[in-house]
Amino acid sequence: MFFFDCGCDACVGGYPTYRDLPSRVESGLAEKLRVLEGLLGRALSAGDYQEGLKIHCKDVHLIEQGLQEPHRIYVSVRNSMQHCLWKVYG
Ligand SMILES: [Zn+2]
Repeated sequence: MFFFDCGCDACVGGYPTYRDLPSRVESGLAEKLRVLEGLLGRALSAGDYQEGLKIHCKDVHLIEQGLQEPHRIYVSVRNSMQHCLWKVYG
């Protein structure tokens, strides 16, 4: 995985990486997430990161109700939300 020997719990314990995480989302939830993704795309294109954060909060609320961690969606939403937080708060 790395070009060095890492001794952290994840490496030693062989925790799954992103590509090994589940990615399937049932159709009802997927449709709701697609709606939010569209709104998010418009907000971010307009540079409205404050609105992006609000949409991410809705994302998190939805996925917490419908998906167990670990799951690729959690990682993707967390990365995108982190980007918004950097833009809003530095
Ligand atoms: Zn490690």
